[in-house]
Amino acid sequence: MLFNKYLRMRKHLKNHWLSPDKLAEIQNEKLRKIIKHAYDNVPYYENLFRSFRLKPSDIQSVEDLGKIPISCKEDINRLPLTELIARGTDLKSCIHGKTSGSTGVPLQIIASIADLNRHQAVWNSFLLATGRKITDKLLSITGRFPKSYRKRWYEYIGIGRNSFLLTKEDADSLVDGIKKVNPDIIVCYPTRMLVVAQAVRKKNINGISPRILITTAETLDINMREYINETFNVDLIDYYGSWETGMIAWECYKHEGYHAIVDSVVLEVVKNNRNVEPGESGEVIVTNLVSYTMPFIRYNLGDIGVYMEKMCSCERSFPLLLEKVEGRSDELIILPSGEFLSPNAFDVPIKYVDGIEKFQVIQEDRNNISVLLVISQRNSSEIVKAVERKLREHVPDSVNLNIKLVNKIPMATSGKQKCVISKVKAQLN
Ligand SMILES: [Zn+2]
Repeated sequence: MLFNKYLRMRKHLKNHWLSPDKLAEIQNEKLRKIIKHAYDNVPYYENLFRSFRLKPSDIQSVEDLGKIPISCKEDINRLPLTELIARGTDLKSCIHGKTSGSTGVPLQIIASIADLNRHQAVWNSFLLATGRKITDKLLSITGRFPKSYRKRWYEYIGIGRNSFLLTKEDADSLVDGIKKVNPDIIVCYPTRMLVVAQAVRKKNINGISPRILITTAETLDINMREYINETFNVDLIDYYGSWETGMIAWECYKHEGYHAIVDSVVLEVVKNNRNVEPGESGEVIVTNLVSYTMPFIRYNLGDIGVYMEKMCSCERSFPLLLEKVEGRSDELIILPSGEFLSPNAFDVPIKYVDGIEKFQVIQEDRNNISVLLVISQRNSSEIVKAVERKLREHVPDSVNLNIKLVNKIPMATSGKQKCVISKVKAQLN
């Protein structure tokens, strides 16, 4: 098991340095395979292909992908799960996840153990590229797959150690949780790390000194990055991924852009149904090449990204295809005390309250937070109470929580519906 894991990871690591032609060959081969699989086994894609008179043989390479219509979360979310996963999937043996709800509509994600192993190989080869050593202790504060995680035997002898921190969002709980593990590597949302960095600076806290810091899932603006780097004396590495499609692209220490993981995904940046030019922004469209249980083909993640097209000076052959992902740095909630709260303090608890279809949290000013809920059930007062109870774990009584039931959540001008918006600007110093 450990040996197989090692082999898979080595194979991916080797791909980082293959010739561009060889890499394109691998990508196209995997693309043909996943397209055929989706057409043969997944009702949603079979119907989609048939309605556009497409056959798997029409897609021979990445250049043909434009023939397939783009699917967005709304297209997929309204369908029963049986339409979206491969026929014959044994749900009991699968990993069940939920998207982050950054668009306010969580989507159920199913992955088999084989899918998960393929995703882990991609993840582990990235960790090696960031400098992970075999004895390093990694702490993940992103809440991914913690329920299904079982400690492996080798972790008990100090190899490949992983921990997950599931904690409240306040600075003290985060600081205590990190100190307890004393990790060499921290994987975290940038806003959450910012909360920790602020506490470390204000309270002169010692004992948090990761060698490697990895952030994901939110846009890092340059001020946030510098604040975190200076606080922990690290050079943080950011990666871009999603629950639906797994890892998509990552930075190396050259910080020249995001290396697209082209042996596992096809990344497109599209505007008005055409691929944008380098330097232009558009919607990020991803085709995953390793998820067979619940395939995502030309899937619109709802993120706006800036496209680039160049090789990195680190000389890896994974091209730099993404300059940055825009948006999301305006999601930090600022309390009257000046302390920050990560958007996760809101979107994570709310998405687990049953009966909520969509939601949006808007910080109007330091003392007022509006929570808009679209609900599917009648017992609205119960739902409102549950949301308030959960949010009060982080939000002090001095801040008004104005919870409103609405019929729909207005769309942002970017086209991406955000679930946490703050109109208060953070003071980073
Ligand atoms: Zn590089």
